[in-house]
Amino acid sequence: MPRFLLFAGLALLLACNNSVPEFDGQRSFAYLEKQVAFGPRVPGSEAQKACAEWLVDELGQYADRVVVQSFNHKDKHSGRMIPMKNIIASFNNKPRLKRIMLAAHWDSRPRADQDKLENQHKPIPGANDGASGVAVLLEIARALKKQPLSYGVDIVLFDGEDYGREGELDEYFIGARYFAENIGKYRPQYGILLDMVGDAQLSLPVEYNSVRAAPHVVKKVWDTAERLGYTAFEKRMGPAISDDHIPMIEAGIPFIDIIDFAYPDQGHAYWHTLQDTPDKCSPQSLKTVGQVLLHVLYEEEQ
Ligand SMILES: [Zn+2]
Repeated sequence: MPRFLLFAGLALLLACNNSVPEFDGQRSFAYLEKQVAFGPRVPGSEAQKACAEWLVDELGQYADRVVVQSFNHKDKHSGRMIPMKNIIASFNNKPRLKRIMLAAHWDSRPRADQDKLENQHKPIPGANDGASGVAVLLEIARALKKQPLSYGVDIVLFDGEDYGREGELDEYFIGARYFAENIGKYRPQYGILLDMVGDAQLSLPVEYNSVRAAPHVVKKVWDTAERLGYTAFEKRMGPAISDDHIPMIEAGIPFIDIIDFAYPDQGHAYWHTLQDTPDKCSPQSLKTVGQVLLHVLYEEEQ
């Protein structure tokens, strides 16, 4: 082979190694629909059990290791023990590697307390609030298998994020709290949480607690989105939101939350109601978030 062709070939090979995989929004949306089809993934329900099995199977096809962190939560009102599961999928488990953590909650809220009175005791479908973040992370898992990174990534699906009654924060973020309390020596360089990222009218202002805890990660993500032209990531300050990133920040991990709390658009009409269904979400919104994350992950290598 003439020398210039060899160099051209090498250059091409290097370019391929550094390329960022394409995020498949349709496939990710199918993951969202699949979760909703199980029924509300309320801790302790049959739907929760079935969905957990499916998530473990699905992640098992892509990750190097999947671990289920099972525990019981004592419901403070009924006194019942509620089984919960954090699902942890790890990629590239070689020792002493830098690691990055990605997270989302996979449970759905047991009560539609923002809905009209007769619906308030019913569990929500959780298409956006729950399934959307997981749907993005499953598609990222597929990309990580196809084109492995040189460092480690851990995808953690938290249970029990949305279990608490309105105003009773001690029964929110149950899975994330349990994970943080049992974190041991695990120290990812930083973490990114996805929550409510499927809204067809996506708008992602910067979340206040994230910028306080990890301004460099916020900058990296929002700069990447800006460079790629994804205007849903807005460089303005949004509200402070209590979410699964808080226990992780308290455990000393720089952690940000990518969240669109306005659902849809300005108000919260679908939030914590029976209206939180797949038709309010879109493949394009999942792609926006997923593609930005893939760029962040694969550009870490360069
Ligand atoms: Zn919620």
